[in-house]
Amino acid sequence: MTSAPEWATARTQDDEALEVLRLDERRGLGVRALRGFAAGETMHRFAGVVGEAICQHSLQIDALRHISGTRYIGYLSHGCEPNARLDMAGFTLVALRAIAAGEVVTIDYAETEDRLHRQFACGCGAAACRGWIHGRSEGPNAEGQAWLENHAAG
Ligand SMILES: [Zn+2]
Repeated sequence: MTSAPEWATARTQDDEALEVLRLDERRGLGVRALRGFAAGETMHRFAGVVGEAICQHSLQIDALRHISGTRYIGYLSHGCEPNARLDMAGFTLVALRAIAAGEVVTIDYAETEDRLHRQFACGCGAAACRGWIHGRSEGPNAEGQAWLENHAAG
């Protein structure tokens, strides 16, 4: 297991009250709020490299374009009841509810991604957790179908 690259974890002077950190071994890198945000507040304006490729830390802008090389948003964790969302028209991260300092910032990957770089079993703990996370335009892959059969209620 490699540790996070220095640039991904170091606080920088352009830090906008967010920081990338290693949450734990299972979840990998995530983003934490360094101060509180009000519901509806713009938390961050992002920039990056726009292209057609999907990679681990890219996010979908529209039908054809994806953004990678971002300072924070490529490291946001998924949550089925997220506390933030991405505005891909305005290139902003927006708080969906009040967020306290120290809270991990989450978005719903299926809100932006047609297809995920990698589908995964979710451990977000939300009552409405979907269990297996995939893009909005794809179904669960073979691994996901097996996972869902194993975790079907009743
Ligand atoms: Zn979940």
